[in-house]
Amino acid sequence: MGTSNNETTGFVQKDKPSRVMAAIDWEVDGKQHGYLSVPYSANESAWGAVRVPITVIRNGTGPTVLLTGGNHGDEYEGPIALKKLADSLDPAEFTGRAIIIPALNPPAVQAGTRCSPIDGVNMNRAFPGTRTGTITEMICHYVSHSLLPNVDAVIDIHSGGKTLNFVPFAAMHYLTDEDQFERTRATVDAFAAPVSLVIEELDTEGMLDGIVEEAGKVFVFTELGGGGTSTPETIEIAETGAVNVLRHFGILPGDPATRASRGLSPSRVMATPDATCYSISDETGLYECLVNLGDPIEDGQLIGRIHSVEKTGLEPGLYYAHRSGTLIGRHFPGLARPGDCLAVIAIDADN
Ligand code: ZN
Repeated sequence: MGTSNNETTGFVQKDKPSRVMAAIDWEVDGKQHGYLSVPYSANESAWGAVRVPITVIRNGTGPTVLLTGGNHGDEYEGPIALKKLADSLDPAEFTGRAIIIPALNPPAVQAGTRCSPIDGVNMNRAFPGTRTGTITEMICHYVSHSLLPNVDAVIDIHSGGKTLNFVPFAAMHYLTDEDQFERTRATVDAFAAPVSLVIEELDTEGMLDGIVEEAGKVFVFTELGGGGTSTPETIEIAETGAVNVLRHFGILPGDPATRASRGLSPSRVMATPDATCYSISDETGLYECLVNLGDPIEDGQLIGRIHSVEKTGLEPGLYYAHRSGTLIGRHFPGLARPGDCLAVIAIDADN
């Protein structure tokens, strides 16, 4: 296994090389388990580094798909499913290349926290990153400037983490380029999650999503559950979805395994078109969620109460749906604070 910060691989910008070193030879066929080494001079290690485990599986020429998990450290479907696939996928079956990074932000994954404990940075608000930034920002910079130019599609596997829980979905954003929209939608379909969602998010600045989309490439992300854990169902969705995407791009042989072929109901095609899909907390207290994930919701329906911890005899805060639809996401902890996202309502796409 060679080190690859040379200029022949196409993975390094000549004018502004990343400070991240990749212990991978990008052009060699077969399977390589290596790491990205991010310089980190700290009390514990003067000439130390944060290592990001990476597996590259390549056979001949063909498309490249980047599969990432652990962008946030308290979301487990991505790291578990991608670690398993990095071990099990057979390069002999490949035509093209998969770059698998189960834990894109290892300090956060090791700490079980959304943000990195080293620099406090939320990775998915730090793209495109900074060459001379913090550890998290340097990883983002490497992904944006060294990996992204060499990939055709990025699948970023998220879940709700400790503070949200979701009906498992694969998602894409509204895109102005029709061809890019259709290529992305076909990839979401191939992933075959219980829900396929076109999403309008409240805040997208600094996300990996936008960097990939601006480059004209396919970007699909997921929210496969949450609560700071995983389930057999959500792990299976992640594993099958990732393999399905590799099949969709022709990197693995065969067609994607449809939900019907697995005895499952068809993927429900949904959308969250605007801010009325979200209910946000105005206060601190005990969150009494009155609806279950997957429940149908009517516009104006009472969906939650927030009770004071400090005093009895106070009316609870009342939270109403701003539109009809289906509850696909909810605040997970029993405590809520002002600004917390309490509920996400999606509509069926043909509505
Ligand atoms: Zn996440």
